[in-house]
Amino acid sequence: MPIRLLPPELTAKIAAGEVVERPASVVKELLENALDADARSIAIEIEAAGTRRIRVTDDGRGIASVEITLALERHATSKLAQAEDLEHITTLGFRGEALASIASVARVTLASRSADEARGAQVHVEGGSVGAVQPVGAPPGTTVMVEDLFFAVPARLKFLKSELTERRQIELVVSRYALAYPQVRFALDVGGRPVLRSSGSGDRREALASVFGLDEARQMLELQRPPWAGEITVSGFASPPSLTRSNRKEIVLFVNGRWIQDAALTAAVVQAYHTLLMVGRYPMAAIFITLPTEEVDVNVHPAKSEVRFRSAERVFSAVQRTVRSTLMHSGAGVAAAASDWSGPGWVAHAETSAAIAWPDRSSPRAAPAPDAGAPPAPGSLPASALLAHVHLPLLRVIGQVGATYIVAEGPDGLYLIDQHAAHERVLFEQFLREQDEHRISQPMLAPVVFEVPAAQAGLLQAELETLRRLGFDIQPFGGSSFQVRAVPHLVQGADPVQAVRAVVEEFEEDETPLAREKERRLIARICKRVAVKGGQSLTSTEQEDLVSRLESCDSARTCPHGRPTMIHLSVELLERQFGRRG
Ligand code: ADP
Ligand code: MG
Repeated sequence: MPIRLLPPELTAKIAAGEVVERPASVVKELLENALDADARSIAIEIEAAGTRRIRVTDDGRGIASVEITLALERHATSKLAQAEDLEHITTLGFRGEALASIASVARVTLASRSADEARGAQVHVEGGSVGAVQPVGAPPGTTVMVEDLFFAVPARLKFLKSELTERRQIELVVSRYALAYPQVRFALDVGGRPVLRSSGSGDRREALASVFGLDEARQMLELQRPPWAGEITVSGFASPPSLTRSNRKEIVLFVNGRWIQDAALTAAVVQAYHTLLMVGRYPMAAIFITLPTEEVDVNVHPAKSEVRFRSAERVFSAVQRTVRSTLMHSGAGVAAAASDWSGPGWVAHAETSAAIAWPDRSSPRAAPAPDAGAPPAPGSLPASALLAHVHLPLLRVIGQVGATYIVAEGPDGLYLIDQHAAHERVLFEQFLREQDEHRISQPMLAPVVFEVPAAQAGLLQAELETLRRLGFDIQPFGGSSFQVRAVPHLVQGADPVQAVRAVVEEFEEDETPLAREKERRLIARICKRVAVKGGQSLTSTEQEDLVSRLESCDSARTCPHGRPTMIHLSVELLERQFGRRG
């Protein structure tokens, strides 16, 4: 085929693909326009998951009659005038693309009346051709009706998910904006039925319920502005450690009122819960970040759902520290701390008594506890003000239960110790100590060659230096083979290849940008692999040895992943349970 310039209708459709991916993207663009027009009330009506009809009506500023066809042109916008404006975007839209894109793939009717005109104007666009402007009587504001979405690009229709999924996406968009703009009234109707209503009262917690559910919204903690907050402010809500989800999807982020997706900031929220959540559990959060417009570039992608920060690290740290300090100051943080000590599902008063009883026994050591491993944040509240440095009293081992738990007695009651979790903790602290003393690595008498799946080989290759810091000497051995020449002391006696595989798995799941944090997670992963398992019977000497090593740990009560190593049945609790005390 010869090279030729594409006709404008075709370039319009190609460009539209980036802005209008699915019905929910249309809803998002129309909501953003309404919000940019300072609407106080926005109604969204949907038919057939948005493919048949999407109508958005607002009571905003409106469009002057003489400009109504211009609004539908590509790169026509009232929000930008010159290049410098791009550095200070205060509106949600600015590219002048949305209406044109939508109009190139659907039948669009735009009707609007600006507040200072007596009558409104209406125009219909279909297949790129704009009809005549007609006068209409209407209250001030704008209505955009989008019909037969993607009729002009049938291929796109085939890629849509089920009606239910597309509908769910639309609900997600509306509820997120309802949360970001609590002073605006949102009403979403699907197939003539009301699905979502927000009052516009300005109460964010009320809007929170529409996103996370009523019960969850009630429990969520409002983020406290920490005293060290600078020009980056972080507000919003985060779940207490007792309220979790199995994925990160309910960590919702907004930057200067714009809903964005950002893996690093999501990780910042998750990290704030370090040691407070079980492995595989994630918090829920709605995080609103405000910062000077010149600090953030929103012109990264046509859909405007990603942004770039001038100083990503500062934003990361502001989010992580604000959430962490809220958790630590809240009663929930204390309860979480206490339940870390006594095991989950513990009765409330036992948590309280543990919380009161334990700090008295805390050792005055000043070294940071290994699992207080939130990234070093100068000036932030020590993450573990309540958790750290709680050494165990001397315990007398009574025996093993189910080849999994060790029962022990202390001056203040009974302890049920999870042997696997306890051993993980012991190994973890030993590893860190040896790393500090630069004596972790031990050459192997007979180096072992092993192979990893091709997909993992590159990953492993890229991280050999990280592994060296952890005491592994691994060399490429051709193709996807590697040779292990030295391993950490800890791994001595265990299968070295297993330990390396554990590390590679962790690389695959890795989501933290912080090297220090990453190392700790790798170490935790190795310890988990090497530790004695549940179901393994131990001699009484082995039991005693494990418990006495646990006694000398800095954070004996949780494993490196944050799970409890033990359940403590205090004397007081036992007396209460047996009715010896009121
Ligand atoms: P952008 O929002 O990037 O400027 P759009 O294509 O979404 O581009 O909209 C083009 C222009 O049409 C906007 O700049 C605005 O002036 C006008 N407009 C669109 N929707 C509305 C609305 N709901 N209320 C008032 N003006 C609107
Ligand atoms: Mg727009």
